[in-house]
Amino acid sequence: MAFMRENRPGGLVALKTLLESSTPEQQIEACLFEAESDIGGTFNYRSYQNAELVSSKQLTTFSDHRLPLDSPDHISLPEYVDYLRSYVAKFNLDTHIKLNSPVIRVERLPDGSEWKHRVSYLDGTDAEEKKERFYDCSHIAVCTGLHVEPNIPTIPGIEHINGDVFHSSLYKDRSQVAGRNVLVLGCGETAMDIAYESIKADAQSVTMCFRTGFLSFPKSLSRFQVFGKTFSGGLPIDGLITNLFETAYVHRAIAHSRLRWFVSDFVIKRVLWFLTGTQAGMNQHVGGLPQERLGRAFVFLNKSNKAMPYLNRPYQKHNPILACIGNRYIDPPEDANSNRVVDTCTWPEYIDDSGRVHFQANPKRKDWQRLKNRVIKPDCVVYCSGYKQTFPYLDSAYPTASDAQIRNIIHPSHQDIAFIGFVRPGVGAIPPIAEQQAMWWTALITGKMAMPTDPPHYHLLAAKTSRIHYGVDHSAYMSTLARDFGGAPGLMELYREHGLRILLIYCFGASFVTFYRLLGPFKSAVAPEIARTELAETILRRGILGDIPSFKIFESDKVFAFLDIQPLSRGHALVIPKFHGAKLTDIPDEDLLEILPVAKKIAIASGATDFNILQNNGRIAHQVVDHVHFHMIPKPNEQEGMGISWPAKESDMDKLKALHEEIKSKM
Ligand SMILES: Cc1cc2nc3c(=O)[nH]c(=O)nc-3n(C[C@H](O)[C@H](O)[C@H](O)COP(=O)(O)OP(=O)(O)OC[C@H]3O[C@@H](n4cnc5c(N)ncnc54)[C@H](O)[C@@H]3O)c2cc1C
Repeated sequence: MAFMRENRPGGLVALKTLLESSTPEQQIEACLFEAESDIGGTFNYRSYQNAELVSSKQLTTFSDHRLPLDSPDHISLPEYVDYLRSYVAKFNLDTHIKLNSPVIRVERLPDGSEWKHRVSYLDGTDAEEKKERFYDCSHIAVCTGLHVEPNIPTIPGIEHINGDVFHSSLYKDRSQVAGRNVLVLGCGETAMDIAYESIKADAQSVTMCFRTGFLSFPKSLSRFQVFGKTFSGGLPIDGLITNLFETAYVHRAIAHSRLRWFVSDFVIKRVLWFLTGTQAGMNQHVGGLPQERLGRAFVFLNKSNKAMPYLNRPYQKHNPILACIGNRYIDPPEDANSNRVVDTCTWPEYIDDSGRVHFQANPKRKDWQRLKNRVIKPDCVVYCSGYKQTFPYLDSAYPTASDAQIRNIIHPSHQDIAFIGFVRPGVGAIPPIAEQQAMWWTALITGKMAMPTDPPHYHLLAAKTSRIHYGVDHSAYMSTLARDFGGAPGLMELYREHGLRILLIYCFGASFVTFYRLLGPFKSAVAPEIARTELAETILRRGILGDIPSFKIFESDKVFAFLDIQPLSRGHALVIPKFHGAKLTDIPDEDLLEILPVAKKIAIASGATDFNILQNNGRIAHQVVDHVHFHMIPKPNEQEGMGISWPAKESDMDKLKALHEEIKSKM
């Protein structure tokens, strides 16, 4: 079979999944067409200065190629493009990729032809004369992305702006907004980033306009104080939703009613108020969504929150109860100490001849009340109004992404054309979803599964008039696809195949794509190790905040201790600092002070008379989980407890003396 599709995260993973499924009996040949001269898609071509992923590396990387364990949770867009390059190199994809090759037409070939589809594309770099060429194939995966074609709503009088008017896809760096009166149209993550960058570029004024509102939530949990204690764990929020109560064993009726989303919303809203005095979002004092649309069932969380201190400034009130009990959100000092403001208001109704913006009246909105008489004459307008999906190259006989009713991937009568990457999660990442979709479609067209017929329950709820209907709940969507293709592990099966530790990591971890390759048709040899290390860490780092199934035996401000669930002997316990760091050298001295006294107490309490204290640093030194931990392992007899090999060598006394001097001088 031959396949065609376009190129960048979604295209790359679809290409790799198809090629990997090729067998001598069922050979798959595939080619990937990309209009641009490089890979990376939107991450490469619509990036800007200081742009960072809002989804965590644990969730955003593909199932079998991961970032180094010590890389930060959130990386920059250029770093993600480098990661994609390493993916291409690792799986030898480059010979299957045609860059500088925009697809201009896809049409069905007449019945009786050798192949089903003809793809017409232009071949050659911009410097050369482009030639139209053809590629015939049996199946097509369309991976042209959600974020390519700018959506620019009409604003009457926009031509009266005396300055620059452009879409966010053309925003590259601070020089475009420095010293200007900036009007940002929209309230998504790019809008937030550009508002913040404008403040940092000393824009004269910054105003953000939006129709309804947004739900702000930082991409990682940090910077808040509860009862006077500061939480600085920096946990990525997209790794916090656990499979056990979300996707494994959820009754169909509950799934359909979205009940679990509303229950978690109820809890989250109260926690938000308790922490930051507002339920609109985390530390969000303006721009809140109306009650009937505020919650996980409806929205794409806005995880770019750097501009929030500037939006909040005119509205944030001192809450004496929370102040009294020591609860608050701590803005970064450089933002907290500024007196600058990002004004917000309703959407522009029109712009008059003088270039003044007139906002739609909405007396219910406190930001409109504040700005209604203000004269705002921007000289830089940035449309952060998103993107729209068009498929100009597809012949009208084909369905498009919005017709792909079966799992948002295919139309029931057109299994040979798949739409990969055309859903967006409320919280989550698109690249692993694209991988899951690629596995699903590959399983379908290679006969490993039947087309599912049951109705889905993963869609976010949207009004009929809403522009976006492709919102999904990340974990519900991932698990639905996995169940269809046989990649969702049954708990007993998982236990029998990989043991208790991996079973618990799966249950208490989020819907990471690697989990769906522990068993089933796409079983991967590297998945268990990734689960045991990187994915286990997402649970371990939650500590008392999360659902770690730990048998806690001690806890203080700085230290946490619990029984090992796979002990080497009775009483085997772990003592960890709450400060997150992979190796001993990453932990501040003051966070280590209590560790040994606690280990000593546990040794006494367990009744151990002979025991080892062990602390490993690095893979080669047997470290498996990248959060510093000290083992206290009782040694009741020869067989139980820790076994050690001690390959001692003879010393050269001169060399030992030199080493002694060297180390002593550096202490
Ligand atoms: C600043 C920023 C931050 C983001 N952060 C995140 C994040 O943290 N997590 C996340 O999941 N997502 C994030 N996104 C969204 C991200 O863009 C998508 O997740 C990702 O690009 C999806 O990959 P894709 O392959 O589906 O589409 P794209 O990357 O958009 O790729 C589409 C490709 O199709 C090509 N193409 C289009 N038409 C044709 C044609 N006719 N012929 C040949 N080629 C064609 C285009 O050249 C383009 O390269 C972010 C986006 C931006 C701009």
